[in-house]
Amino acid sequence: MTQSNHLINEWVTNIVNTTSKNVSDKLYKTLTCYFRLTFIKMNECHICESIGTAESLYTDNWNGRHALKGWYYCEKCKPYVMFVKNMKEITANELFYYTYKYLKYKPIAFWRKSRTLAIDSYLLRDGFIDPHDYLDIISIHYGGRVIFNISWNQGDEIVSKHITLSNVIYFNRYLFGYSWTDMECIQRCRVTHEKKWQNKWISKLEYEYQIADNWNIIKWHLRKYGIPFKCLSIILDYWGELYVFVSA
Ligand SMILES: [Zn+2]
Repeated sequence: MTQSNHLINEWVTNIVNTTSKNVSDKLYKTLTCYFRLTFIKMNECHICESIGTAESLYTDNWNGRHALKGWYYCEKCKPYVMFVKNMKEITANELFYYTYKYLKYKPIAFWRKSRTLAIDSYLLRDGFIDPHDYLDIISIHYGGRVIFNISWNQGDEIVSKHITLSNVIYFNRYLFGYSWTDMECIQRCRVTHEKKWQNKWISKLEYEYQIADNWNIIKWHLRKYGIPFKCLSIILDYWGELYVFVSA
């Protein structure tokens, strides 16, 4: 290598190293600047700290829609915010609101099992998703199940609780189909092509469909042998895997 080639090589390496260090520092700063956008300084970008025109962006989940968490940033920092926002969705334990808002106002049936023995379990046909857009509706429970936040009217009140996704799949095939790929919210989701997202969600969604399918098979056999449907209700109650008690 000639002396000039050596210098060019060193110069390019230097630029690449400096640039990638700058980019990774900026991404890290953007990540740490995801916070609740209340009582904040206006007209200051929280990422590069420049003063001027800045705008806000919230994530499309409970954290963003209700807790008002997001970024306040200038035009120059926008690409970093967009990148990190996308990463937030890819790695989130919940689907974002835009994916399931079509479920609003659709009746959703589910097997309701009360915490108290005073109420017999029963099929509640007119559940719905939270009308105020506050809650994350489809999320991964720490136990590994995919859970669904269902609401219903109880007297003058709207109450809600978490049930397993298999519960709503089994009783609402017209909405959820027979495979996770039939779910409209998954079809709408913009990050399903990402490996990280796939690793987190696919096997868990498959498990929920497997449980719902098991119940179809049991129901078919009960019918075949003329066993009363009441038996299925009892089995659902005790051995259903359609229910996990999760604090709402
Ligand atoms: Zn900035």
